Amino acid sequence: MQTVTATLQALARGEVSSRELTADVLQRIERLDPLVRAFLTVTPEAALAAADEADRRRAAARRTGEPLPPLLGLPIAVKDVLSTRGIRTTCGSRILENYIPPFDATAVARLKAAGVVIVGKTNTDEFAMGSSTENSAYGVTHNPWDLERVPGGSSGGSAAAVAARMVPAALGTDTGGSVRQPASFCGVTGLKPTYGRVSRYGLIAYGSSLDTVGVLTQTAEDAALFLHLMAGQDPLDATSMDVPVPPPTLQRREDFRGLRIGVPREYFTEGIQPEVAAAVRAALDLMADLGATIREISLPHTEYAVPVYYLIAPAEASANLARFDGIRYGPREEAETMWGVFYRTRGRLFGPEVKRRIMLGTYALSAGYYDAYYGQAQKVRTLIKRDFERAFEEVDMIAAPVAPSTAFRIGEHTGDPLSMYLEDVFTLPANLAGVPGVSFPVGFDDISLPIGLQLMGPHFREDLILEAAHLYQQATDWHHHQPDPTEDEE
Ligand code: GLN
Repeated sequence: MQTVTATLQALARGEVSSRELTADVLQRIERLDPLVRAFLTVTPEAALAAADEADRRRAAARRTGEPLPPLLGLPIAVKDVLSTRGIRTTCGSRILENYIPPFDATAVARLKAAGVVIVGKTNTDEFAMGSSTENSAYGVTHNPWDLERVPGGSSGGSAAAVAARMVPAALGTDTGGSVRQPASFCGVTGLKPTYGRVSRYGLIAYGSSLDTVGVLTQTAEDAALFLHLMAGQDPLDATSMDVPVPPPTLQRREDFRGLRIGVPREYFTEGIQPEVAAAVRAALDLMADLGATIREISLPHTEYAVPVYYLIAPAEASANLARFDGIRYGPREEAETMWGVFYRTRGRLFGPEVKRRIMLGTYALSAGYYDAYYGQAQKVRTLIKRDFERAFEEVDMIAAPVAPSTAFRIGEHTGDPLSMYLEDVFTLPANLAGVPGVSFPVGFDDISLPIGLQLMGPHFREDLILEAAHLYQQATDWHHHQPDPTEDEE
């Protein structure tokens, strides 16, 4: 499977039809997904029908000269927390096991208008709560680089699907790292846009003040094209911002000259795997060789990101998830009374992590504790945001590791939620501050697991960080390495 850009060129030149491409994608899914388990739902008939329609339209345009939408006929996958009209959307939860949305999320609708063919929905931690996809009610996704390891999460299915080259691109969401961390664990490129850049309409809410819709691809160039097509104000999401949409293509710079990159000292703590720190440092050295000015900076409130996030996100989740009551969506557990229906449905159909977050969040919001927990967390969130504002007075972007380690083993953190939460230490600050981040591969550890680096930029400067990631990718080939999940088979 080629990159988005290369695939679109092949389609435009008539070297391949959307039907052939889509059939190839479906075949790869059939062959590889029993090992990787990236998909919760595959929609072969609808995908082939959409592909045929795309081919017809392209053929007609050859005669009429009608302009074609930019992604016409491109097969993609969508994380199962984004609503897709007519396609089951479970959020990785039993409580939405049979839910078929009657509408598309705005990001999905915009991509459909741009011509994509949706081939299926990808696995996720239940309601995007997790860092490994182990919290999915439908089983864990396996990392294509080592099937005994997690792909990261919560967009683990999307990351694994792109890494295993089942699809050229997949949508993800990032509330606290869920696009960037799985991208890092799976060796692909993952973009988390600025909060407010892409409409959240139709994204089934987790933490509404943190949720963003992003994309996983092989390259920064591909991510830029997707961002261009998804971004922009939407009357259906009052937090979507009316700012100019970033351009579809990059390549305005020749090298890193003139770019100032800050490296926060707080991100190189003792707990970090030495190979991760080394690969990130080596990538920064290369950027310096290519003309970047690298300087150490400080984001002094970084250590509070984990406690602040794990109060705010569960607080918002506890409110957002109140709607799943057995009455309005999904399956229902019958009982004598209305309260009985709520208790049984929520008790039986939410998984343990979701219940933990609802309890944490409800507690943090309850009268008598609100000021001490939720209120205090909001204040510290402001301090974290200010750290970034100050830093961006001195530097154009910030470079850091994505996660303290490479992909961990399935089961390694499941018995200890706190150790799982600590995995998010380097990704949470960008969400709390609302700034964009892109994660991309910069090397491998001793046992050949990919290592990612993230660049974070000022609000609405995705163009800058994508440009830098693209320059790095033009000088290296880490992003072209691909795993062979069938290697592990006996
Ligand atoms: N791992 C974080 C959490 O569990 C972030 C998840 C996300 O970004 N959706 O909340």
